[in-house]
Amino acid sequence: MKKIFLIGALIISITAITAFTQKSNKNNNLTDNLDCQYGRCSKIKDNGYQCKNCAQESSSYCWSHSK
Ligand SMILES: [Zn+2]
Repeated sequence: MKKIFLIGALIISITAITAFTQKSNKNNNLTDNLDCQYGRCSKIKDNGYQCKNCAQESSSYCWSHSK
């Protein structure tokens, strides 16, 4: 009876870990690879992070940094 409980707990743990891993992968993809047709804005902001907006067709910057 105890063995069955342990196996059950193990399966639940693996399922939880797998779900968590898939979730973090999804989040990573979202930050690294936005659905920008022309890629991300090249502007590095004052806080050191790259602008998260999409670049425009005619520029490597977004609408707010291309001016
Ligand atoms: Zn920008």
